[in-house]
Amino acid sequence: MNTMETVLQSKKQTAQEYVTKVFQSTEKRNPHENEFLQAVKEIVDSLVPVFAQHPEYMKYGILERLVEPDRVITFRVPWVDDHGNVQVNRGFRVQFNSALGPYKGGLRFHPSVNTSIVKFLGFEQIFKNSLTGQPIGGGKGGSDFDPKGKSDLEIMRFCQSFMTELYRHIGPDVDVPAGDIGVSSREIGYLFGQYKKIRGTFEAGVLTGKGLEYGGSLARTEATGYGTVYFVQEMLKDKGLDFKGSTVVVSGSGNVSIYAMEKATQFGATVVACSDSDGFVYDENGIDLDTVKELKEAGSERINAYVEKHPNAQYIDDCTQIWTIPCDIALPCATQNEIDEATAKTLVANGVKAIGEGANMPSTLAAIDVFLKSDILFAPAKAANAGGVAVSALEMAQNSGKISWSFDEVDAKLHEIMKDIYQNSMQAAADYGTPGNLLAGSNIAGFNKVAGAMMAQGII
Ligand code: GLU
Repeated sequence: MNTMETVLQSKKQTAQEYVTKVFQSTEKRNPHENEFLQAVKEIVDSLVPVFAQHPEYMKYGILERLVEPDRVITFRVPWVDDHGNVQVNRGFRVQFNSALGPYKGGLRFHPSVNTSIVKFLGFEQIFKNSLTGQPIGGGKGGSDFDPKGKSDLEIMRFCQSFMTELYRHIGPDVDVPAGDIGVSSREIGYLFGQYKKIRGTFEAGVLTGKGLEYGGSLARTEATGYGTVYFVQEMLKDKGLDFKGSTVVVSGSGNVSIYAMEKATQFGATVVACSDSDGFVYDENGIDLDTVKELKEAGSERINAYVEKHPNAQYIDDCTQIWTIPCDIALPCATQNEIDEATAKTLVANGVKAIGEGANMPSTLAAIDVFLKSDILFAPAKAANAGGVAVSALEMAQNSGKISWSFDEVDAKLHEIMKDIYQNSMQAAADYGTPGNLLAGSNIAGFNKVAGAMMAQGII
């Protein structure tokens, strides 16, 4: 080894030791927060080459400060159900990092929501939001409230009670929530109404994902799904591949899935399967999106009702089995950890060529390892699903300028943002010694901007 190589080696070793030390103390401080620790592990492992090049980041405790949220707020959400019974849920908002702008990230209403889930989502949001190039920090929130089977008035009363506490923690320049699983434009409407009532001012930019009548942005509904497909398209193009003529499987049937299916179909792919938390449908002629939209967007029906309208399609009542369907492109758009190591191996064995993560953290660390070690293309969540929050930032920009852009204008901006995220992630991967590795590249590109801003703003 020459002197240069020895110096480099020792810098890498110092960086590795630093990362290991910070991860161990994060584990110790947050026992049992498995999802949060998983998200931290995935990021920090990518950052070793960055710390080797930037010892000042270690000196100024960038990572120690990043893994500790600015604040975590939990609160009681009492509401009265349709039978007159008092119900109590727990509300959360984690304000993780505001180096780049006001905290920004969705609200998730799902029984699985706990501190670990909101912290993993909030942590990822820091880097995802940085990748969009928009001036937004990272946050997330939600509740263990289960919207399934609730009446419209129950949803409204719950949202009002949730906002009766949340309002004091948010604001257009402070923290701007939006939707996530279980929270779409209906819930955002009720939340916005209550915020406006309490504050007594019309602050459009306090929430995104609003209805078009009162400050919402065109193309926000489509943004996450479309963005995922735009990103995957860039990745495929680089290898001479295309959506056109390919077979695609998309898990989930919510907002992200529906618009990923729509854009993939517009690009000439055949989407043969989609799912919900009960099971999945397989339609070899291509999923009929109008039916899925009717069931899931207009109503709150289960995906098994699809086969009533399409008797040639099959329904299998185990959603995890969707990944046994052979496909060229797999778009996991349902939820965290839906793809484990065994599932990843099945996908690879069945000849999948590309994975595009539309959901947040849909693959376990072991599954990601399988993808990275095989020959397939892998588009990681923070980059591939950043289109939703990117258009949320465009919604904020329109609100503060008191203007509204056309669908095509917003869609064109979204497309450019997704292309930029792809280019910047590829560039960072190449610059830091892992060419082609979009996981490392997007983590590094997202991190570098946040770290630069944190350095500039001092130890706070
Ligand atoms: N929940 C979405 C996400 O995971 C969107 C957040 C937002 O628009 O603020 O990025």
